[in-house]
Amino acid sequence: EQNHLASRLRAASLGREDAPFLHLPASGQTTSYGDFFANAEKLAAVLVDAGVGPGDRIAVQAPKTQTMLELYVASVLAGAVFLPLNTSYTGSELEYFLTDASPRVFVCDPARLESLGPIAAKAGVTKVFTLTADDGGTLAEAKEASSAGFVPVVRGSDDLAAILYTSGTTGRSKGAMLTHGNLASNAETLRDVWKFTRRDVLIHALPIFHTHGLFVATNVTLMAGSACHFFAGFDSSAIMDSLPRATVLMGVPTFYVRLLKEAGLPEATASMRLFISGSAPLLAETHEQWRNETGHAILERYGMTETNMIASNPYDGPRKPGTVGLPLPGVEVLVTDPQSGTPLDQGEVGMLEVRGPNVFGGYWQMPEKTAEELRASGFFVTGDLGQIDGDGYVHIVGREKDLIITGGYNVYPKEIELLIDDLSEVAESAVIGVPHPDFGEGVVAVVVPSPGASLTGEDVLRKISGSVARYKQPKHAVIIDTLPRNTMGKVQKNALREQYSGIFEKSGTEL
Ligand code: ATP
Ligand code: MG
Repeated sequence: EQNHLASRLRAASLGREDAPFLHLPASGQTTSYGDFFANAEKLAAVLVDAGVGPGDRIAVQAPKTQTMLELYVASVLAGAVFLPLNTSYTGSELEYFLTDASPRVFVCDPARLESLGPIAAKAGVTKVFTLTADDGGTLAEAKEASSAGFVPVVRGSDDLAAILYTSGTTGRSKGAMLTHGNLASNAETLRDVWKFTRRDVLIHALPIFHTHGLFVATNVTLMAGSACHFFAGFDSSAIMDSLPRATVLMGVPTFYVRLLKEAGLPEATASMRLFISGSAPLLAETHEQWRNETGHAILERYGMTETNMIASNPYDGPRKPGTVGLPLPGVEVLVTDPQSGTPLDQGEVGMLEVRGPNVFGGYWQMPEKTAEELRASGFFVTGDLGQIDGDGYVHIVGREKDLIITGGYNVYPKEIELLIDDLSEVAESAVIGVPHPDFGEGVVAVVVPSPGASLTGEDVLRKISGSVARYKQPKHAVIIDTLPRNTMGKVQKNALREQYSGIFEKSGTEL
């Protein structure tokens, strides 16, 4: 009997405790596997001293630091449930999450202690620690005073290891309950399909309050016995310095867009073997520019908080731009009719459903929502629309909640966005549906011009007119400076829909 996830996170480094795991480029300091796990054991003892028992939640809203990562592993060792929170959440948002999750322990930046302390106490937290951006604070002090040698609490594959709140792109974030088995099996699969070995050095620049940075980047590195360059956030010039000593970069599309602006990319990327992108759609244009500059085809993958990773373009086979690749080994992807739930034919667009050991155990304290989205058959209804092509590659068309229904017709925003993005004067766009007195919803294009381009809404409408059926054409185009995005680079269409909700107040527009 053992701790299911902890034993798997540790297996690759047993007997090679001196091997480097975590390198901090900012300070030049490197922590070995042995020291990293010793620190995690010390923190696990701190948690147990604070009254943490199996299943208790450890909520953390703190800057991304080594100690925060050690706390994640400590939480696993202690049999607790790790619950990291987005650092941009404000006091009232935190109040909701803390009340919802009722953690035993809460860790926050000391600067927020005064405002968050009372909220945590009201939510039932019995112990609050602080953690600063340079790894100071009471949690780091308690770690120093503690000793290693903690015996991992026994946990099975069905026991909870973490609750991760979804990004809140389509509404209020939901707490996804992730088990030891979910996390272990998904990371093992990714390690194998992406061919991670102990010779790899990953650039770890993603936040660790999200599935991408916390589980994909961290667990895969640990399970392969690889090293990582650990960054508090994304900074193009720091990443450029790191690239020549690294082998893999995991990023969101905006990482690649920003790096393409740096000089010397071909030389800097000479030692790299793999560039991975996910969490938001990678534009085919970015894929192409990256390949032209560096000779590497970015490998795009698809996943979500509830399901971990679902699909990935192949390591060896063709990486098809605009697709998220093939379902991972052991993961089934089905395309169904969104209304009836019956399977559709190959090539037809419908709801993507997913089944496998990667799929979560349900939403925290939301049994109705869980029952709606997690079928008795084990398939999870993702909310993403897509199709599977003749080669088995998954294409994502967009989210069901973003589908526009205008005058009874379906309009997939992505089709129109691709058309608008193709204009040389356009940097990017978002197409949304907003209330329309005659058609239910009217199509609106929100457009960001290319740097230096002068462009009006009328220009956009004129340039694309005739390219698609009339009902799909935006009835209105607005020009803005930047699209609102969250920390993972996802466009916040809810905010845009709200902002432009009154645009069709008067009826009389022609469909
Ligand atoms: P919420 O569920 O709270 O509205 P969210 O769905 O954005 O937020 P996450 O779990 O972080 O929260 O994101 C998962 C979603 O991200 C997927 O359902 C999908 O829509 C999108 N996504 C992830 N990877 C890709 C990709 N490679 N291409 C397109 N979309 C992607
Ligand atoms: Mg979601």
